[in-house]
Amino acid sequence: MVQEKFDVIVVGAGPAGLAAAYTMAKGGLKVIVFERGEHPGSKNVMGGVLYRQATEEVFPEFWKEAPLERPVVESNYWLMTKDSVTKYGYRTEEFAGEPYNAFTVFRSKFDRWMGRKVEEAGALVICETVVEDIIKEDGKVVGVKTGRANGDVYADVVVIAEGVNSILTQEALGMQKKYLAWDYLAVAVKEVIALPKGKIEDRFGLEDGQGATIEMIGEATQGMVGTAFIYTNRESISIGVGALMSHLINNKVNPNELLENLKAHPAVKPLIAGGEIKEYLGHMIPEGGYKAMPKLYGNGVLIVGDAAQMVNGIHREGSNLALISGKIAGEVVIKAFEKGDFGSVTLAEYQARLNDTFVIKDLQKYQHSSGYFEEHPELFKLYPHLASIANKEFFTVDSIPKKEKQRIIMRKVFEKRSMRHLAKDLYKLWRVLG
Ligand SMILES: Cc1cc2nc3c(=O)[nH]c(=O)nc-3n(C[C@H](O)[C@H](O)[C@H](O)COP(=O)(O)OP(=O)(O)OC[C@H]3O[C@@H](n4cnc5c(N)ncnc54)[C@H](O)[C@@H]3O)c2cc1C
Repeated sequence: MVQEKFDVIVVGAGPAGLAAAYTMAKGGLKVIVFERGEHPGSKNVMGGVLYRQATEEVFPEFWKEAPLERPVVESNYWLMTKDSVTKYGYRTEEFAGEPYNAFTVFRSKFDRWMGRKVEEAGALVICETVVEDIIKEDGKVVGVKTGRANGDVYADVVVIAEGVNSILTQEALGMQKKYLAWDYLAVAVKEVIALPKGKIEDRFGLEDGQGATIEMIGEATQGMVGTAFIYTNRESISIGVGALMSHLINNKVNPNELLENLKAHPAVKPLIAGGEIKEYLGHMIPEGGYKAMPKLYGNGVLIVGDAAQMVNGIHREGSNLALISGKIAGEVVIKAFEKGDFGSVTLAEYQARLNDTFVIKDLQKYQHSSGYFEEHPELFKLYPHLASIANKEFFTVDSIPKKEKQRIIMRKVFEKRSMRHLAKDLYKLWRVLG
């Protein structure tokens, strides 16, 4: 086991930890990364869509060498009932070429690639090693206890990037146990279903090598707060669904049941027909947002990525927040070394810089959404249903004059939700999302 002292210890080799480690190693610091998995990415689950712009800020022109699946040219949202779908989407050929917008990826491959870049930059990446505790002296974080024999390792700064449900964050900041935002944890499960490349392109209407995404709400989560997704990989489809843990428990629903129902939905079944299940994965997602965030720094410690609840569930963003928080944390640590001071006043610059980015601005913007949806899960079932009622009437061609049709649509919709309630819902949605 490595006994020497390092400049920085990074706990966790996900996008947040690896972005921090890469930035600091490039800046000349002596960095060690501990990862509990067999290799970076081996424990990671993501839908997963990786966003070009944030990734490029850390790894310029990564798409020229990183293992990616398909550039996403088409993004769709589906509102689902049991037997219908209302679709909204956008497609552009501009996203098919440089500089790209987003890619589908397998985190097991992509994180491994990032890990290699981090090692090339000069950091040590030690896998199959769990960090069990934080070592503090006089209120300052000075190292970590790993699960290995003689496994105490010391450094001037520890960057906690261990992902969702971070116990180390609580310990490092001396937070109360109740901090963990259990109510706002979502559980997601995902399958990777193998299909021939050509079949994927035919079924999703894609040109050679291009990708598409579908996000689904409504029947996909049986009206619980959550979403489902389908993403095209080179020779497989990732399909998954997640919902708030509290709603799954209260409704006594197993996430696997949700996935099986989703796969049997008439709009989904043909997309995956004949495919072979290659992988089954499950993971938690921190959905607490801004209100559930811990302090992001302390004496000798910084918190990045999911460990600090940096997930924007409304826009299905997490990897980009992780990468940017890791990069900024790395830059702040480099400055701290120039100053020779690792106290909380110096490291507070991380919070200040992050406040000026989309990471905190977006989390702040949606800060009331988690609580609102948690209290109003009925909206997840009701609105796909209303959309279906209206669209069915609209698309049914019969002898009813169009003006009369409009009246029928209004009547049927108002039967389900009064005009007063609809106005109230829209106003509240505008307040929490607008
Ligand atoms: C089902 C699902 C779908 C998602 N889809 C998307 C998507 O499409 N696009 C997107 O941008 N985001 C998506 N996200 C969110 C995204 O995956 C996360 O926001 C992102 O991975 C956070 O990165 P991170 O580095 O903070 O944490 P993680 O990626 O979770 O990395 C943490 C690392 O720390 C390691 N670790 C944990 N504890 C210890 C310890 N004590 N000692 C040593 N190592 C430890 C873990 O093994 C892991 O490798 C999705 C999440 C889920 C669960």
